[in-house]
Amino acid sequence: MLSKRRWTTTGAGAAAAVLVLVTGWQASAADERTPERGLYQVRGADTAAARTDVDRAGVDVLGVRDGGMEVVASPEQAAGLRGQGLTLTLQGDWDALLAARGGGLSRTAAADFPAGDEGYHTYAEMVAALRETASAHPEIAAVSSIGSSHEGRDIPIIKISDNVASDEDEPEVLFTCNMHAREHLTTEMCLRIVERFTAGYGSDAGVTAAVDAKEIWVVPSQNPDGAEFDIAGGEYAGWRKNRQPNSDGSVGTDTNRNFDYKWGCCGGSSTSPSSETYRGPSAASAPEVRAVQDFVGSRVVGGTQQIKGHIDFHTFSELVLWPFGHTYDTVTDGMTAEEYARFESVGEEMAASNGYTGQQSSALYVTDGSISDWMWGEHKILSYCFEMYPAGGGIDGFYPPDEQIVPQTTRNDGAVDILIANAT
Ligand SMILES: [Zn+2]
Repeated sequence: MLSKRRWTTTGAGAAAAVLVLVTGWQASAADERTPERGLYQVRGADTAAARTDVDRAGVDVLGVRDGGMEVVASPEQAAGLRGQGLTLTLQGDWDALLAARGGGLSRTAAADFPAGDEGYHTYAEMVAALRETASAHPEIAAVSSIGSSHEGRDIPIIKISDNVASDEDEPEVLFTCNMHAREHLTTEMCLRIVERFTAGYGSDAGVTAAVDAKEIWVVPSQNPDGAEFDIAGGEYAGWRKNRQPNSDGSVGTDTNRNFDYKWGCCGGSSTSPSSETYRGPSAASAPEVRAVQDFVGSRVVGGTQQIKGHIDFHTFSELVLWPFGHTYDTVTDGMTAEEYARFESVGEEMAASNGYTGQQSSALYVTDGSISDWMWGEHKILSYCFEMYPAGGGIDGFYPPDEQIVPQTTRNDGAVDILIANAT
């Protein structure tokens, strides 16, 4: 459940508390003004095992960079981490920061982005953009659906290829975005791919060759319910999960812990429904996950998976991550040394193109039930997770101003081309 600017203190009002915050006040865990949801910089978790321990404490890990972690934690969680010898620096009250970032005085209507961020696509705008693209480029673009969200929203997919209406014998590539609700920049990333590979067809030689030789699939939002909830009322909610109700009254499954490959195997997800990394009651219990899995399964033609390459875009930390996430091992059941070397080679090439850092997913911390573990484990698809801009940044990590859409999505043009070239 979200709490809106509630503090553990009964004496100070929210406005006074925010004032103290912006003047550089710092608090210890024992301070009565410690926010119910505090944004902290964590230092001292210098190994993947230590960061896994932080994640398992149940905090909301926002980003990881250069060994430092940004997390949202309750006073109890913060005290617990300090008790493990970690250094936590309070950056602010997460709920107050969200409220301030949401536009403050100038509110737009519900279900639109807060004032100043209108350059981001709402769900309705995203759907309209796909339809307009398909009608403007009917020979190479077609929109369909992979299923419905919990609340019944369609999850559209666009196919881009020459002779788009026929299922040609060409290697296929999949790009997926906006699995986590608040990671709105990723929706724009998928729309950038759609725009580039349609508008550039016939004029850009590289684009034209790719569209002629491959079949490109793009899913701009895997979590439309969460994305709409996150912007409802013109104020950002900081929401991550989907919107499925849980048995304890909380809401949401972390769909990137819900995929049906070694689901819940390795302490890389939570069994607590209120956790930000709740894995769900069973593998693929989230309809959004089933939609993606069913679509990918449908691309097995004549016993052969047609999709050869995949990127799932997230924010933030500027990372290129590859499987597996469920184990620290590079070579393990389902991953040979040669296969791992290929992941690393293509991953590092993409990272060199966009200035991100490339690494195995578990080098951050252990995760299980992730989309990329499933894509490779179940379907042998060369699958990466990108953590986009910025490298760090607290609240702005999820809500960069819309002026960043063009520079941060075009920044990945080269990486997208590398992935497509390696999808063979
Ligand atoms: Zn994410």
